[in-house]
Amino acid sequence: MNPKKILKGLYLVGSESLSGSGDCMVYALGIGKNHICLIDAGTQYAQEILDNIAKTELKNRDISDLILTHCHFDHIGAAHQFQKFFPNIKTYAHSWDLAAITGQPNTQGLTAANWYGLELVPPKIDYVIKKDPENLNLEGTKLICYHTPGHTPGSIAVLYENEEGIKVLFGQDIHGPFMEEFNSNINDWVKSMKRLIRIEAGILCEGHYGIFEGKEKVKRFIEGQLKANGF
Ligand SMILES: [Zn+2]
Repeated sequence: MNPKKILKGLYLVGSESLSGSGDCMVYALGIGKNHICLIDAGTQYAQEILDNIAKTELKNRDISDLILTHCHFDHIGAAHQFQKFFPNIKTYAHSWDLAAITGQPNTQGLTAANWYGLELVPPKIDYVIKKDPENLNLEGTKLICYHTPGHTPGSIAVLYENEEGIKVLFGQDIHGPFMEEFNSNINDWVKSMKRLIRIEAGILCEGHYGIFEGKEKVKRFIEGQLKANGF
């Protein structure tokens, strides 16, 4: 399978079928002239993700930024590999998921690493997201990080607007699941999802369900998840 072009400079470069078993959907966004911002890292297949990037117009660029949307292993497992490949990479995560991501004692259950039969090699976090929203300016590309607790306490969604005004929302685990061992909070999640609907994004890049194009489809997917959970 080949990486999927979503917009100019934006590709799906990782997933179960694109990079390896267990991976979430990993998105690569070109920033500036020579760099890439990666949304999530997948479980353990950094090399495969880099091979996929090499098949796109983003080839020959370095990954300068890595945004981790929450503390689960299928999103953060390979972060340490990317940090080895790109020693200057800047890695971002929300403060409320920081303990789990950085492997503090008694947080293994929060990462769900055991679901994959693997142990987390904790990545280094260079930038802790604390504000809501938190505005990032990556070489002129503006990204807005919204705190969207629910699936995990420190879940975030990232909004990117391209030059034509198309709003792309990276809402990785909109679908949940919600579990005590994750410190999930369904009421927080409902509020988070209603907030994401109000953004009226034109494209939703989800963590496991794929890419939804068109405002109506984006709204319908999020509303469908609310309904499926009884809201
Ligand atoms: Zn998750």
